[in-house]
Amino acid sequence: MSERTRSRLLSLSSFHGSRRTATLSVLALAASLSACGGGDGGSVNNNAGATATLAVLETTDLHFNVRSYDYFKLAEDKSYGFERTATLVRAARKEFANTLLVDNGDTIQGTALADYEATINPIPCTQQLSMYKAMGALGFDAGTLGNHEFNYGLPFLNQVLGGGLEVDGVDAAKKCAGAGFPMVLANVTSNKTQKPLVQPYTVLERTLVAKGADGKEVKLPIKVGVIGFTTPGIMNWDKRYLEGKVSTQGAVEAATKYVPELRAKGADIVIALLHGGMDSAAYSPTMENPGLYLSKVAGIDAMVMGHQHGVFPDTAATPGFTMAGVDHKAGTVNGVPAVMASSWGKALGVVQLALQWDGAKWVVNKTASKSELRNIQNKNAAGATVTVDADASVAPLVETQHQAAIQYVKTPIGQTDFRMSTLFADVGDPGAIQIVNQAQQAYVAAYIKASLPQYAQLPVLSVSAPFKSGFQGGADYTDVAVGPLAINNAADLYLYPNTVYAVKVNGGDIKNWLEAAAKRFNQIDPAKTGEQQLISTFPGYNFDMFTTADVQYQIDVTQPVGSRIKNLTYLGKPIDVAQEFVIATNNYRATSGKSFIDKLDGSGTIWASPDANRDVVIDYIRKNPAVTRSANGAAKSWRFAKATVAGPVVFSSGANALAVAQAAGLANVSLLAADDGSGKGTSKYAVDLSK
Ligand code: MN
Ligand code: MG
Repeated sequence: MSERTRSRLLSLSSFHGSRRTATLSVLALAASLSACGGGDGGSVNNNAGATATLAVLETTDLHFNVRSYDYFKLAEDKSYGFERTATLVRAARKEFANTLLVDNGDTIQGTALADYEATINPIPCTQQLSMYKAMGALGFDAGTLGNHEFNYGLPFLNQVLGGGLEVDGVDAAKKCAGAGFPMVLANVTSNKTQKPLVQPYTVLERTLVAKGADGKEVKLPIKVGVIGFTTPGIMNWDKRYLEGKVSTQGAVEAATKYVPELRAKGADIVIALLHGGMDSAAYSPTMENPGLYLSKVAGIDAMVMGHQHGVFPDTAATPGFTMAGVDHKAGTVNGVPAVMASSWGKALGVVQLALQWDGAKWVVNKTASKSELRNIQNKNAAGATVTVDADASVAPLVETQHQAAIQYVKTPIGQTDFRMSTLFADVGDPGAIQIVNQAQQAYVAAYIKASLPQYAQLPVLSVSAPFKSGFQGGADYTDVAVGPLAINNAADLYLYPNTVYAVKVNGGDIKNWLEAAAKRFNQIDPAKTGEQQLISTFPGYNFDMFTTADVQYQIDVTQPVGSRIKNLTYLGKPIDVAQEFVIATNNYRATSGKSFIDKLDGSGTIWASPDANRDVVIDYIRKNPAVTRSANGAAKSWRFAKATVAGPVVFSSGANALAVAQAAGLANVSLLAADDGSGKGTSKYAVDLSK
């Protein structure tokens, strides 16, 4: 059988499959029968004891990364992209006689190309989304919906899925191009119909190439049940689109209801597509990552996971997901073969299900099954990175839209009246940090007001850091010129693809948090007459700071680490160590910032938002397009505590940039040497701590 035939076979219970899909399926079935010669007819019972391997291939959280391309940097990035995952899919199809290709959601949002096709120049009904078009080149068998599928509202989702969503505000009769493969989603119901918004499951009928008990090849039919689940968090994250229109159920509850139905419809095996991952907290129906519990529902033979953008199984020396029941060696969760294939097409999940034919149906030998991830980038024996080639069929399919998206990201969304840079962020210029803090603060405050009333009385503050602060030389600074601000400038203002997290801390925690951030500085000896380097090896991206008039503090670099934050005030009064605050930050700080304060181990998180800090900054600029120094780049929360030092206190920054410091009002900075001698294109500056 050809790859195309195998992947296009009939989907039995297609809920709202388009006529086009149905026609294709019938043609494919006919082709399949002639190709296989009908050899599997007759007394299949004679084949009891036959075995087969079915490789379930998973993509998850592709986030519209069709190409290996960074639309913010306007440059190729080979570390991700479906065009490369596609190569892994084709290789797996050569390797295994029987494959199923499934997508686990968070597919239609995440790049500038996604925004372009959804909101900027919406794709017409007759045209497939570029992501689905690219996926069509490979032929997916089924998919589920992630939380981000709901980001553009239900009418858009209805359109891109081809129509058929019976829900308030949507024209279900609209027939559009669709995804090209069946979607399943068992835990979201339409309030209008009290039925699943999308078919909860499908039964895929396939013919397996198997090995008979006599060792000879035999072809036998199989019915594969595929059921899907998304994160109940959609009701919060996309409340404005979903409230009153749909409801969610827990994955365990939905599975307990529908898996027996699937079995009753003759499914030999059942594969669960969970747009969620694993969390050791007690189960609840609104749990975001219920994989540990879903795996225990009877009748699930394999589970593909996602949403956390994590990896399972993990071959690292210290793997993630260490809870009981998780076996990285076996690739199982509570004995169920499982995968979580990273994100952005960086990896393909492969579950090899070992099947045994008992004469009437297939059963899974779970202990003989195995799972693995196949990465698009690997280290070779010499330690060099080797990247899988892009599949040549993908890029041409989306080229026109790809170019249109590039033009879109170059389009101004606002303008700035000052040069927004981190060149002097280490010595007090908030010029490229304040707008990030303003965006994060506004975003978290709005969410708390709408959805977390229990925290509504707490002040919401924000911290961010100079992510680019010269580590790689004089060009490694955030530096946005005066003039138009385009979408791609947001990548310069926010370097990492982090997501916004909100943590609850008290005034004492804030002091300790800032003490940790102040490790950015060496301890300066006031008596020393020689030059002293101000900046330590502590990374700039960890130099968290407030940039608001509401919070004021001084950093005394003459003191040792832990005793540097002086005169910390909130609204003009010494901060109350017991007063509670919500701080907007990012997922990394909130979950792996234990070296700052204990609560940054994840335990202080009150909201893990699904949105990228960078997108939040873009949104903020769209809403506040006239960016000015006075409104967005002058709020200094901190300054150095005054100290008289016998010798010069020096630091390096971008070459000959003193004017930038002066424009930021840093009158205590001077240029000592145009070339600091490091060979990194940086100048040597001094800061006078007595001023
Ligand atoms: Mn995702
Ligand atoms: Mg997700």
